[in-house]
Formats: sequence, C-alpha cells, structure tokens
Amino acid sequence: MNNPLPLIAFAGLNWSRRLRRQPRARLTQVVRLGGRGDLPATLNPRRAYQLGEPGKWAVLACPCGRGHVIELNLAHPDQARWRLSAGRGGLPSLAPSVDVRAERRCHFWLRGGRVRWV
Ligand SMILES: [Zn+2]
Repeated sequence: MNNPLPLIAFAGLNWSRRLRRQPRARLTQVVRLGGRGDLPATLNPRRAYQLGEPGKWAVLACPCGRGHVIELNLAHPDQARWRLSAGRGGLPSLAPSVDVRAERRCHFWLRGGRVRWV
C-alpha cells in the first residue's frame, strides 16, 4: 500500500542556506498551538507544530532543509491521517511515514525526534 500524500506548501524560507539535505536532522519538541494564525512566520526546523487540541494538523519544516513546509492531517476522517505524538522528553514522532512527492521526493520517518530517510 502506498503511503498517503501530505499536503505541501512552500514558505518563504531561506533556500540558499538550506540547500543541503540534512541526514542527521532532529526534532526536539512538539509545540501545541490553537490554530494556523499562531504559527510563527518562520517555522523552527526543530519543532513539530500541532494545531488544535486535540490536534487537527501537524505542520513542520521538511527536515530535508530545502525550505518547504509539510502539513499533515491529524483529524479529518475523509483524508489520509497521521498521528503526532510526543514521547520521552517531548521528542516528536509521526506515523505513518511522510512521503512528499513534489519537485523532489522527501520520504522519511520521524521517531523519537530522529529523522530516518527512506
Ligand atoms: Zn523536503
């Protein structure tokens, strides 16, 4: 079975600074926000943002570092759904894997804050 495809958006991040894929990318925290309007203008690449409580969306800067933003549905039953959790020390995990197929493909697991590329 193919992984569900996340919605993606491109934000005005600094591309030139982040052109290189970061194989050891880590995320250290789940930040819970009320809604989209509470997101910072520039996402912290070490954070996974949960919108709503219980979470409706997970938003994160793709750990590839090329400057695109990934939005994952956590709640809407008619769409592909992910589960965002904060484990020991608050380290975020996402299930299933995230598979973005845009200009380039970004496919990774996030478990215990560690990004593992597929
Ligand atoms: Zn990416």
